[in-house]
Amino acid sequence: MKRVYNFSAGPSMLPEAVLRRAADEMLDYKGCGQSVMEMSHRSGEYEGIICSAENLLREVMEIPCNYKVLFLQGGASSQFAMIPLNLMNKHHKADFVLTGQWATKAWKEAARYGEGNVVASSKDKTFTYIPELDPGTFSKDADYFHICLNNTIYGTVYHELPQTGDVPLVADVSSCILSEPIDVSKFGLLYAGAQKNMGPAGLTVVIVRDDLIGDAMDFTPTMLNYKTHADNGSMFNTPPCYSIYICMLVLDWLKNTVGGLSEMEKINRKKAGLLYDFLDSSRLFRGTVVPKDRSLMNVPFVTGDTALDAKFVSEAAAEGFVNLKGHRTVGGMRASIYNAMPVEGVEKLVAFMKDFERKNA
Ligand SMILES: *Cc1c(COP(=O)(O)O)cnc(C)c1O
Repeated sequence: MKRVYNFSAGPSMLPEAVLRRAADEMLDYKGCGQSVMEMSHRSGEYEGIICSAENLLREVMEIPCNYKVLFLQGGASSQFAMIPLNLMNKHHKADFVLTGQWATKAWKEAARYGEGNVVASSKDKTFTYIPELDPGTFSKDADYFHICLNNTIYGTVYHELPQTGDVPLVADVSSCILSEPIDVSKFGLLYAGAQKNMGPAGLTVVIVRDDLIGDAMDFTPTMLNYKTHADNGSMFNTPPCYSIYICMLVLDWLKNTVGGLSEMEKINRKKAGLLYDFLDSSRLFRGTVVPKDRSLMNVPFVTGDTALDAKFVSEAAAEGFVNLKGHRTVGGMRASIYNAMPVEGVEKLVAFMKDFERKNA
């Protein structure tokens, strides 16, 4: 069996230990004679799985008890509508910072339900930085303030959160959740598609403060109302059972093998440091993001020559470093180095890049 180092932005690598355990438990989950894929979501076994997943997430992220954890479907993209439907309920207005495609989509979708006010944007420089924010320019009467904390496509991350006062801060954390500790109490709502750093596609996690639930717009579809899912422990209807199970195994790995989010952060800093240090000293490659706003998770880089970029991507793939092609709107390369990417994968990638540089610079 040959496994590759997969640098995909998502769906992405899962820890090998998790895949092995899932394989072991595939035909017979803990002696119940069936796979998790086959069992009723109302069974005692499944009840145990979804409870463990929630409890592990609460423990690992230190989620305060006045927040609900919801296991939903529809991807992070459905949250672009669910958030305004549920939260834009007082002044029908929200503030947005445009730091890339996902942040822009969240803004455009919300603007269908109320006023979407753009506070700042980094579009002028292809989203290669996080704009400076002046709280004096924020709407005092916004129902929420939306940011995309880690910008998967462009490789930027906020190192400082906007000071929004009493306005709930809402963040898309799809590509940085579980990568380092985060103070949940600073947010009204956090959301993430699971397929970057939590598990397989099909599961979307929403962490929402209790007081923001229960005041959705009248025409909100039942399935898009947070209250529906909060009142039913994410079991109003069939949840994405198997994805939640794998997410539970990932959280168990994070807690018991890695040792929690502080340890995970150290490993992620080491991996990103290896790559950025090389990019900063390279004669051929360079990172595209301003150094102060660099992401730990997504690292875009270029040679400056599109033909050479393509050659790099194809030669890398032949050596088992796959999915290094940059996003179609950015070009060049992007290495997504989520939690499951081992340090060794990044060390070997850097060695390969050095070799490519020697032959091509
Ligand atoms: C991948 C991604 C999305 C889209 O997620 P889906 O689950 O495919 O809807 C949204 N926001 C960010 C930051 C992402 O990385």
